[in-house]
Amino acid sequence: MVNKDTFKALVVDKAESEPSELVATVKQLTVADLPEEDVLIQVDYSTLNYKEGLGFANRNKIFRFFPMVPGVDLAGTVVESNSPDFNPGDQVILNGWSVGERYWGGYAQMARIKSDFLIPLPQGMDTRKAMSIGTAGYTAMLMVMTLEEAGVTPGSGPVIVTGATGGVGSNAVAILARLGYDVTALTRSTQASIQDYLRRIGAKEIAGGEEWTMMPSPLETQKWAGAVDNVGSKVLARVLSEMKYGGCVAACGLAGGSDLPATVMPFILRGVSLRGVDSVWCPTPRRIAAWERLVTDISDEALANINTVIPLEDVPRYAKEILAGNITGHIVIDVN
Ligand code: NDP
Repeated sequence: MVNKDTFKALVVDKAESEPSELVATVKQLTVADLPEEDVLIQVDYSTLNYKEGLGFANRNKIFRFFPMVPGVDLAGTVVESNSPDFNPGDQVILNGWSVGERYWGGYAQMARIKSDFLIPLPQGMDTRKAMSIGTAGYTAMLMVMTLEEAGVTPGSGPVIVTGATGGVGSNAVAILARLGYDVTALTRSTQASIQDYLRRIGAKEIAGGEEWTMMPSPLETQKWAGAVDNVGSKVLARVLSEMKYGGCVAACGLAGGSDLPATVMPFILRGVSLRGVDSVWCPTPRRIAAWERLVTDISDEALANINTVIPLEDVPRYAKEILAGNITGHIVIDVN
């Protein structure tokens, strides 16, 4: 049991010598150091995402003020609450709402969070499973729900997941496979061990190679009924040009770039749709629906393959690796 009066937190601040550089240090804080929000939570786990990689590198203005306790998500137990919606002992999940960017986040043993941002841990899920899924798995579930809403079913034809070895990508492969889709995983990696990993989590086919770095023709051979895109740029342009008639692409990421060098041809000649997915400001009923589905729609075996658990002290090192594209799967942070 953590002593809630003094606890460990990973604190990021500007370097004294060079303010454009950031320094991350594990510090002892007290509850009085936490922001004034209505629910105090004892944190069990958080996660590391591409966004924190950008933040630790001081890119894209992810951290809006300093000192910052990063961490876009957490799972833990309510210790004190001034909200009628939560009581001490309740287990909760937080992700998104700009926490870890405009508010202190989950990289600490204790956190004070606005009750509006919290949802109850679903029945049948513990806090470790919740953060093994994390923001990455929840975003992947939103992507799958988006494809379903566009009418893409397992019978519609193959689906492709780009950036497949990443946190969102791996979870999307695992969820789609669990639901019976025929999943192709797109990866830049040619390593046999990575390809084995993708097959273990549910990929039926692996795609990749030189063509994915080149501009596609406006309309390529039709291959995919649905797509989950984490990469953007030329990869998303190629996915769009390879969609089957009436197919849908759900897009959430920019790991390969935020541009989209595509034409309107897939939209106007094949009725393809491109739907954006945002997890940060997603309304509460939809996020609860996604988390409820995650109790069953991703297998424990896939989660065990996807996740690596690290301590708080190792986060800055892993943040560099995730930005460099060197992490396979998803990173859970055991803050204790
Ligand atoms: P990861 O870094 O874990 O995964 C991204 C994957 O994309 C990598 O594993 C890699 O897969 C591929 N990739 C990385 N760099 C490049 C590149 N230069 N060109 C092509 N492919 C590349 O990130 P996350 O899974 O955490 O996030 C994926 C994306 O989704 C990010 O852009 C993130 O910002 C975004 N995101 C958006 C959310 C939203 O709410 N809209 C929520 C969560 C994430 P491989 O090596 O297999 O090719």
